[in-house]
Amino acid sequence: MKTYLEKARELPVRGEYDVIVAGGGTAGFAAAIASARRGAKTLVIERMNCLGGQMTAGIMGIFCAINDQEKVVIRGLAEEFFDELHELGGVNDGLLGYDRVKSEAQFIDYDAEAAKSLCNEYVLRERAKGNTLDILYETWLADAIVEDGVVKGVVVENKTGRSAYYAKCIVDCTADADIIAWSGAEYEQLPVTELHPVTLITKLAGIDKQRVLDYYYNEHPDWVHNSPTKGWKEGIFHKFGIHNELQGVELPPELDYLRSWFMLIYESPRDGEMYLNMTGEFHVDGTKTEEISESITISRKRIDECVSVLKKIIPGYENAYILATSSIMGIRETRQVKGLYKLTEDDLFAFRKFDDAVATMSAPIGHHTADGESAIFRNPDGGNSFDIPLRSLVPCKMDGVIVAGRCISASHDAMGATRIMPGSFAIGQGAGVAAALAVELNVQPRDIPSDKLRAALLEQNVNFEA
Ligand SMILES: Cc1cc2nc3c(=O)[nH]c(=O)nc-3n(C[C@H](O)[C@H](O)[C@H](O)COP(=O)(O)OP(=O)(O)OC[C@H]3O[C@@H](n4cnc5c(N)ncnc54)[C@H](O)[C@@H]3O)c2cc1C
Repeated sequence: MKTYLEKARELPVRGEYDVIVAGGGTAGFAAAIASARRGAKTLVIERMNCLGGQMTAGIMGIFCAINDQEKVVIRGLAEEFFDELHELGGVNDGLLGYDRVKSEAQFIDYDAEAAKSLCNEYVLRERAKGNTLDILYETWLADAIVEDGVVKGVVVENKTGRSAYYAKCIVDCTADADIIAWSGAEYEQLPVTELHPVTLITKLAGIDKQRVLDYYYNEHPDWVHNSPTKGWKEGIFHKFGIHNELQGVELPPELDYLRSWFMLIYESPRDGEMYLNMTGEFHVDGTKTEEISESITISRKRIDECVSVLKKIIPGYENAYILATSSIMGIRETRQVKGLYKLTEDDLFAFRKFDDAVATMSAPIGHHTADGESAIFRNPDGGNSFDIPLRSLVPCKMDGVIVAGRCISASHDAMGATRIMPGSFAIGQGAGVAAALAVELNVQPRDIPSDKLRAALLEQNVNFEA
């Protein structure tokens, strides 16, 4: 490849912090609040104009379970946040009621815009308490500053130009482990042919929801019975695929793929709105902008095609239109840090507990097939949970940095459970506390004593089942 030798230049160091949270997404939001609450001088660096990542800018609208199908297991910030979102009317509790949604259903459907506002409110509250929580929005992380095997800071690009920020501990919450990769720390990434497909989440409006629900619940209850997620039966609508709906319907050959395509349609708490999560493209490397760009172009075409078909075949969708598409591509899988410990499917199904746990969670192992056609969920037995240990957040050979969210050290199968938003949120809180604690104790994250970590997490209402 042709190359260009960029001129060396001195960068202004615009800030020095205890903790920098790189990427203010699902995990990054929780990490930042947890770090600031612990009293660490904290900066979040985020390329979008809001906190929450896939949870907000990604308009995901479906937060998987904070429970083990019997009781709440993820407490702390995640529970606090969703209780408040519910009070604000931002949660769809259907006929189940919020308490049962929270403690039994395998998802909480919510309004992403309300979640965006609530993230902002959480930041303002920390500041009102006197805690330092600075944010750089519309800022791209561009490099890691490494000295003697320790990440000391980051280089960023934004409207102001290129500059550097230093911190005593950095939490890589970019989902793609960008800081890890740029620092030279080790990571793993599967070939594109094995990665989860990508999706541009879409919010539809103009829907007569009652007619849609009547059509399914009264006319075709057997079509919705195939939902692998618990909760829909009691009155929250989740519909996987439109295979049955398309039986006997003629489609032009180029739309025939919709018959067997992965698709999940679920209810927003807002009138007339539903979310559409359908495979946008497959075999995409989410660390390559050319590939992401092409997948966005293809996804938009597929969304248009799907909506045009929904409008024709399902009563209640006649006047549906696209209200919004996600502001960031929905990448399910890229890099996983090579950590001190790699979580596996065995750990999850054995409900393994760890002394250095930063979070406890329970979730099905969700596997979106690489061809984009289906999603397979393997459910753990209800009433059980597993831990995420700090050592799965700590890179095996780099200091000054830990990861949180989707890019933790986990196998392809295990990350199919840990990557969900409740997991990312809980791991984010754990990472924020751990980073602040490392700074307080003046140690590297790998050297944080487990008893001190647990005590600090309990102070923030984090729950452990062991
Ligand atoms: C299509 C799709 C469907 C999903 N469905 C569900 C579901 O139904 N339920 C569920 O619970 N979970 C679901 N998930 C999983 C879940 O949304 C994510 O795995 C989780 O949000 C990951 O959290 P995170 O903080 O690691 O990443 P993100 O929330 O993606 O946050 C990463 C943040 O870092 C920022 N960032 C990244 N790189 C840079 C950079 N270089 N510079 C500056 N900022 C940067 C991003 O803008 C973003 O805000 C889904 C995910 C996808 C993609």
